[in-house]
Amino acid sequence: MTLQLARLMEHAGNLVAVFDPEDRLRFANRAFRAAWFISDGEDLLWSELMRRNYHARQGTVIAAADFEVWLRSTQARRGKSGYRAFETDLHDGRWLWMTETMQPDGWMLCVASDISSIRADERSLRQDRDFAIKASQTDELTGLPSRRYVMGKLGEFVGSSGEVDEDVGCLAVLDIDNFKYINDRFGHGVGDAVLKDFAITIQRHVRKTDTLGRVGGEEFMLILPNTTMADAETIVQRMLVAVRHSRPVSEQASFRYTFSAGLAWIARSDDPSDVYRRADLALYAAKMRGRDQLSIEIQPHRSLGATAAASSE
Ligand code: GH3
Ligand code: MG
Ligand code: MG
Repeated sequence: MTLQLARLMEHAGNLVAVFDPEDRLRFANRAFRAAWFISDGEDLLWSELMRRNYHARQGTVIAAADFEVWLRSTQARRGKSGYRAFETDLHDGRWLWMTETMQPDGWMLCVASDISSIRADERSLRQDRDFAIKASQTDELTGLPSRRYVMGKLGEFVGSSGEVDEDVGCLAVLDIDNFKYINDRFGHGVGDAVLKDFAITIQRHVRKTDTLGRVGGEEFMLILPNTTMADAETIVQRMLVAVRHSRPVSEQASFRYTFSAGLAWIARSDDPSDVYRRADLALYAAKMRGRDQLSIEIQPHRSLGATAAASSE
């Protein structure tokens, strides 16, 4: 049966591929390999695949002036929900209806079908709609998801079904230090360059299942699903180090900047704005302690919960 399935997949008219949690291509059938110019048995990251085809003007049509900005905004959305469907067009003129199905551990099944026969005017209308939706969810400067998008994600996440008190992950609020000073001293151009550099640097440490977005001027939010506080700390510490080492202004090689972070637990029963408030309080503590560091929320409700559970036994 497994053998039959593999044979059917290989020769299917649909384009089928499997990506692992690192977003490395682990399987692609004949139709998929042909559409994206992949050699038999080639093993590469989705980002490498897209970059290579973009520069060769083949595969997916990417209507973006800056490929790296497009990549960031697309990566920020890729693999974030259980199931996603969208339309895409190829340089060879074909139109595809793409679906992505995620497992909670980060494996992704991608199945695309050829819908080229659908009338072109209907297509462009639907593409305009998809473009408008993406624009409303994206911050133009950094290419990251907007506040509306990440707050929506957080809302979906805490509302999911299961044990009410269970911790379902962590939320980090990241804020660039002394950003007003950077703007005043070096100008808005440098300020904007710092924001873009921050988005790129942080995104490198964001796992596929995490969501990073820009929620304010120089304030960012990071949702870390199914993550312990210890792991969240490790990840944010890595980000602090990476930003410390970053030199975003090539004309001023010594220019550097830092950020501070506040971390809070997310319980399933939490109200999104309350988790955000608690992470923001922790951020304030990190600022008070001198910036360029991480602070974790003090969590009285958790120890109260433990006492109540102990006394009822
Ligand atoms: P702290 O270390 O306490 O966070 O201090 P801060 O100066 O970073 O924080 P503050 O909130 O005082 O200042 C943030 C500044 O960010 C004020 C505003 O001029 C600037 N800003 C907000 N959005 C943008 C933007 O899109 N581009 C640029 N260049 N500056 C921005
Ligand atoms: Mg700041
Ligand atoms: Mg701020």
